Amino acid sequence: MSNPTPKHIAIIGCGPSGCFVAQSLQRVWKDAEITIFDRLAVPYGLIRYGVAADHQHTKAITRQFDRAFASGAIRFAGNIEVGTDISLEALREHFDLVILASGRWRDRALTIPGSRLEGIVPSGDIINALNTVPRPNLPLPEIGERVVVVGGGNVAIDMVRFLVKTADDYVGSDVSPEVLNQYLKSPAKSVTVLSRSPIASAKSDVAMVKELGKIPGVRYTFANSSPATEDNTLGRKREDAFAALAELDATEEPRVQVHFVFGAVPSKITGTDSVSEMHLAAAPAGESSVIPADTVISAIGFDVNVPGHSHYAEEIDFTPSESTGKIDTALYRVGWLKRGPVGAIPANRADSNEVAKEIIGDVESGVLSIAAAGSGKRGFDALPEALREQSVSFEQWQKIDEAETAAAGPDRIRQKITHHEDMLAIAHG
Ligand SMILES: Cc1cc2nc3c(=O)[nH]c(=O)nc-3n(C[C@H](O)[C@H](O)[C@H](O)COP(=O)(O)OP(=O)(O)OC[C@H]3O[C@@H](n4cnc5c(N)ncnc54)[C@H](O)[C@@H]3O)c2cc1C
Repeated sequence: MSNPTPKHIAIIGCGPSGCFVAQSLQRVWKDAEITIFDRLAVPYGLIRYGVAADHQHTKAITRQFDRAFASGAIRFAGNIEVGTDISLEALREHFDLVILASGRWRDRALTIPGSRLEGIVPSGDIINALNTVPRPNLPLPEIGERVVVVGGGNVAIDMVRFLVKTADDYVGSDVSPEVLNQYLKSPAKSVTVLSRSPIASAKSDVAMVKELGKIPGVRYTFANSSPATEDNTLGRKREDAFAALAELDATEEPRVQVHFVFGAVPSKITGTDSVSEMHLAAAPAGESSVIPADTVISAIGFDVNVPGHSHYAEEIDFTPSESTGKIDTALYRVGWLKRGPVGAIPANRADSNEVAKEIIGDVESGVLSIAAAGSGKRGFDALPEALREQSVSFEQWQKIDEAETAAAGPDRIRQKITHHEDMLAIAHG
């Protein structure tokens, strides 16, 4: 006889990892009641609030999750912050299995001298504003004409696209119109991108580099410290992509110049009250070691040790792990909370599948004994009535979704609602 399987499963965090693991478990345990909690009133985590507004093709992955929620196979319970509205311990009492998928992301801060000057902007502040993140809702920082972007990965490229695009380039997106208009009143004229690594080992995807070439009115140049070796096929493809950008026909006066410097080591930022120069300790031959700047945008990756990211589980060690998702009996973690803030959505799909397999394996082998750990548990129905009423269901999220879609201006797919309370008013109204 096979072992009893979990009947009530709670997942904390409705980003891609939480959704993927829910789908994987639901496929195998069809009679399980799976609830995904999120502190926000809306699902999908960084797909909605991190992925760039002009990358709707990436965001479209949410459609498969929509179908799973709409079919009733998985429950969404938004507007419930674990650690504030309910404790992790209480969830563990009521559910046979709890999976933490609450992500962790905050920009890694620049630490060179001068990094606290006015005009140093973490990429996250720009992403938050463009994506209309509600909790907290932050204004777009002021951005001057001469911008230095520090970083050589995909988020640095996201920043370049934001800096050089015009309103026409956002057709079909859900960018915040107010934030975009604010920026486009006086956009950047020159952008210098500083990557520590040479092109060969930079972190940006070739497709992201090629995409820059489709934006009209931009002149691209680059300097590189060392070429890719013969066996580094990907590095050579990335070099080709940058060479193609620099060869683009820019006979007309460009709106904006973008200069990439690969192999640049920033040493300090100077200025009186606000930024005026970025200094380099190392740069490719012929490159200036002092770059005038009104704004420095940092896009140097994400901080693994985000304070408070797991305030609901302070006693748990969240050191990144590539192997097990298990934390304790009937308690697991997935996605960025497990692996650290690295990797794109497909990497989280793979990770969630692995953790689902691990959980299923633990149940099948008896390592996770559901009868002992969870008999008599009632899941969502056992939660206090006030909490259940406070939550935002998938159908209620659909009302928010409809309101946002209806409010979209011409050529936009949605106008996101800015404030959490306004979303709740629509959901519960
Ligand atoms: C700026 C940026 C741009 C990106 N662009 C791309 C891209 O173009 N393509 C791509 O493939 N990947 C991209 N990524 C990576 C991708 O977003 C991540 O790989 C993925 O979102 C991580 O998924 P996750 O579910 O682990 O975490 P998240 O997406 O962060 O989801 C975590 C969820 O948990 C919720 N939560 C947190 N704490 C609590 C709590 N206490 N109680 C209840 N809920 C809680 C959060 O509200 C959130 O909804 C980008 C990431 C960033 C930061």
